[in-house]
Amino acid sequence: MSKTKLLILYTGGTLGMGYKTKGDETSPLVPLDWSTVYKSISIFSPQSYFTKEKGIIFKFLKFKTAIDSSEINPSHWKKILEIINKNYANFDGFIIIHGTDTMAYTASALSFAIQGLKKPIVLTGSQLPVFHSRTDAINNLSNAVHIAAAKVFGHKTIPEVLICFNDKLMRGNRATKSSSRDFSGFETPSFPILGDLNEPIKISNELVLKFTDKEFKILPEFESNIIIITLFPGFNHELFKTIAQIKNLKGVILRTFGSGNAPTDIKFLNSLKQLKQKGKIVVNISQCIEGNIDTTKYKTGKLINDCGVLSSGNMTLETATAKLMWLLGNYNNNKIQELFVQNLKGEMN
Ligand code: ASP
Repeated sequence: MSKTKLLILYTGGTLGMGYKTKGDETSPLVPLDWSTVYKSISIFSPQSYFTKEKGIIFKFLKFKTAIDSSEINPSHWKKILEIINKNYANFDGFIIIHGTDTMAYTASALSFAIQGLKKPIVLTGSQLPVFHSRTDAINNLSNAVHIAAAKVFGHKTIPEVLICFNDKLMRGNRATKSSSRDFSGFETPSFPILGDLNEPIKISNELVLKFTDKEFKILPEFESNIIIITLFPGFNHELFKTIAQIKNLKGVILRTFGSGNAPTDIKFLNSLKQLKQKGKIVVNISQCIEGNIDTTKYKTGKLINDCGVLSSGNMTLETATAKLMWLLGNYNNNKIQELFVQNLKGEMN
């Protein structure tokens, strides 16, 4: 039987960070190079259980410069996609070590950009650096290996972009960072977790996306000229009008109240209509962490709906953002309107 091969891509994040001034725990954390980080991860060593007992072959790649994931932008997503594309045929699974701050954005972006995915891509990181005595890094990485090399451990291969964190396996485009401290840093508020990685590992196979016979290919373009506006009581419609007139603006994500409701001020509604007339995409997403957009419920929802604003359903903000950026990067206006409201990769229901 051929050996299982995993590609591990290190991008940075807390998992691989150390104090800027060595030994000074009051100095800020900065990303370290993989050559230093790797030495602290014995589960990847040639003597480890994974390698020796299970015969898993690891290959390690890294970003030229490791980053705090707050620095991430579409050029990094393109780099990750390029690496996956180049190595797709040669590996059984992929693990991306990534900072937690924007992990849900990256997971969402990858889930849309990769078509016909038949292998697991698992993102993970940690709340404490791998060098810390109480680190969660090893547990998270070890769980990620169990998922990425599923067959070795008697599980079904999950053909999805996933986040594996604190003993939870989540669909990447359903996850949101819910805590900056707690080991349980992520939640999937509008969808169940895909797996409980306690003892034993329990995967809810009925929730996993079905295998696709679509050809594997990557559509790596993302449009950055979008803006996210959070409504609040007293929101200045004149300011919104000015923003709506920005020439290069391609899309607006409107964070509305409750089930998708907004003020009915005529100036605000007119700005929305103008945006639509100018061919900009405006989407409605709720400020609620959980729930669905339903603009039939209240007049305050119906009126913005009548301005041609698209519903985000129960997508997370991270996914709606990545989906809009990706659609704007790859499709024309009509197609974007058609696809945004569709469930493309399990990101909404
Ligand atoms: N700022 C860090 C990052 O996202 C936080 C983390 O990794 O937990 O890279």
